[in-house]
Amino acid sequence: MGKGRILIIGAGISGLSLAINLKKLNIPFRIIEKQTRWNKKGLAMAIQGEGLKAASSMEILEDIKLKGNNRNLKRIENSKGKVLKRMNPDPLDQSFIIPRDILHEALRLKVSTIEMDLSVSEFKEIQDSIDVSFSDGSTDCFSMVVGADGINSKTRNLIRNSQAPGSPDSSVLYSGSVIWGLTVKKKCNEIIEVWGSSGICALYPVSEGTVISFFKKAPESFRNSRSERADNLKKYFSPYPQPVIHEVLNNLPEDIFFDHVRYTRPHKWNKGRITLIGDACHSLSPLSGLGANLAMADAAGLAQVIKDSETDGNILRRLELFNQKRKITADKAYSISKLRTRRSMLKFPGNLIRNRDMKRSEWIY
Ligand SMILES: Cc1cc2nc3c(=O)[nH]c(=O)nc-3n(C[C@H](O)[C@H](O)[C@H](O)COP(=O)(O)OP(=O)(O)OC[C@H]3O[C@@H](n4cnc5c(N)ncnc54)[C@H](O)[C@@H]3O)c2cc1C
Repeated sequence: MGKGRILIIGAGISGLSLAINLKKLNIPFRIIEKQTRWNKKGLAMAIQGEGLKAASSMEILEDIKLKGNNRNLKRIENSKGKVLKRMNPDPLDQSFIIPRDILHEALRLKVSTIEMDLSVSEFKEIQDSIDVSFSDGSTDCFSMVVGADGINSKTRNLIRNSQAPGSPDSSVLYSGSVIWGLTVKKKCNEIIEVWGSSGICALYPVSEGTVISFFKKAPESFRNSRSERADNLKKYFSPYPQPVIHEVLNNLPEDIFFDHVRYTRPHKWNKGRITLIGDACHSLSPLSGLGANLAMADAAGLAQVIKDSETDGNILRRLELFNQKRKITADKAYSISKLRTRRSMLKFPGNLIRNRDMKRSEWIY
């Protein structure tokens, strides 16, 4: 591929990471975002493994260490307050918890221009370039388009050619669970998870307080309006005896995030020079703590593929190989994510067997 501009659709974790990596490699790009302003979402992200490496090369690791929390201890309790497992992770196996909005801001500060309130309407691939029509009626031409537009990716829909517009996206699977997320000012001392009969409560101390996620098994039809969120959390989780959960439930903030947990599993990640990264091609259950890490590593790898293809012009072959390799990593993460989510939500009598197994020192969550 000769030098040409790249279009990045979506300024989330993967899109911003790609922008930072392209900038480092002197590759020109435009990055667009459909939101008009940034949402503050009280969710915790665990940054680990290949995500730490990617964060370090984007020079945001110090921010993560400073504003996050070193995830060096985890305790799992049941909904009667009994400790099921104490984890003693290898101190060399580093992992940091950071609120999503802080991670997002750290990435954003490294990208000078993000075009807000803009989306795409159509692509036309013509030989070595792609003509793009935007939601504001303008058009532009790019050497490559990257859909970093998350779980409900419009790019994924636009490159799927076989289905009629508006038909359900068969590459999105429901995990069988829902999540609530919020942040409270109170700081809890250690990371704990409570695995009980109503669902899971995970508490992560961060520099500004505690980020909490609640998970519950629920059908896809489960609805939860903004006004119902606090009432539902109290209904499901107030029987848990942990004092910290009671304190949280008695001081619930206005802004409670809620979503259904879904997986994206498209068969193909690219159509010619239009490709996907991050949740657009592999979203996982948040309980795995892997999605953002995969997203940042996708971006670093893709930027290098684009750079390398400048020398031989063979972007399509390089892209196919890159996507095949990343798909193997994403498939492994998907299996871990699915297993963890299922295991942690087990009900009687499966939970008794799981709790017994947990006592074995080699039990891995
Ligand atoms: C509660 C929760 C907890 C999580 N915990 C962890 C964790 O501990 N560790 C971890 O690694 N991962 C975690 N994840 C997963 C992680 O958040 C995602 O994997 C990650 O955000 C994926 O980044 P992304 O850029 O692909 O998608 P997103 O972050 O969703 O960003 C997509 C962006 O694209 C924009 N967009 C969408 N459509 C368009 C369009 N048509 N045009 C322009 N812009 C568009 C969106 O507005 C958004 O800004 C968690 C997720 C949740 C929900």
